[in-house]
Amino acid sequence: MDCVEEHHLNVPLAVLTDDDQFISRRVAQLPSGFFDPATRTFQFSNHSWLLRVDGLTVLVDTCTGNGRKGRGAFFDDLDTPYLERLAAVGVSADSIDVVFCTHLHHDHCGWNTTQADGRWVPTFPNADYLFADEEYRRWDTSDSVRHPNEFNPNVFDECVRPVVDAGLAKLISLPHEISPSLRVESAPGHTVGHAMLCLVSDGVRAYFTGDAFHHPVQLTRPELHLPGCDDLPTAIATRQALITRALDESAFLFPAHFATPHYGHLGIDRDEVCFVPGGARDA
Ligand SMILES: [Zn+2]
Repeated sequence: MDCVEEHHLNVPLAVLTDDDQFISRRVAQLPSGFFDPATRTFQFSNHSWLLRVDGLTVLVDTCTGNGRKGRGAFFDDLDTPYLERLAAVGVSADSIDVVFCTHLHHDHCGWNTTQADGRWVPTFPNADYLFADEEYRRWDTSDSVRHPNEFNPNVFDECVRPVVDAGLAKLISLPHEISPSLRVESAPGHTVGHAMLCLVSDGVRAYFTGDAFHHPVQLTRPELHLPGCDDLPTAIATRQALITRALDESAFLFPAHFATPHYGHLGIDRDEVCFVPGGARDA
């Protein structure tokens, strides 16, 4: 399993919490990317997870992509060596078998396509691109009932429609089994059709949770949130359920935006849930 980072930005932790006692109790001892006391910021990492399991090479969430417009100050006109970083872990674009987007915000489906001769075309020509049908319908611009929100313009037409036109899209209803070890489950709220990938291998469970969590403070206090959820009460309920499940199962969480080492599991300390970064992910 590999993490392929596209880029990261520094975000004030105050957007989630400015409770200093809580920060010193639960955040200050985490690796520095989760909180820099000098700037009071955390690193918002934009990365993909790459799995090799059951004979498949699976890419989870595809970041923002190069040369995009209208994505906001920190995401427009990126020029990152994302595909070279994939190659550096031994994976070429044409060797990806499955692309799974937890949801269709711009920072999770951008590298689905790249530009060729002025058109957006699929980056991974041999992949099945899996989209949860509820999420697909949420953003489908040909559906006049649902519509993109203001911070996600052009994304469906640039990052999803060309995949459909190329015959590579697979709409799935949930839950959906990809292979004996991999299953997609619903994890709604951040977007209405938000989903997660579940891996069970040799008794170890790992959940690729997309944007169900943005920072470890939400593992202790699931009500904390960044702006922009489709359905905040449902997003909070999903977080609470995932926290309970991950504790019960000693499961690893692989979120989409956590700072280095980008993953971990949960523990209990002084009657509070806490984040334990890293661990034996290859176990
Ligand atoms: Zn995101």
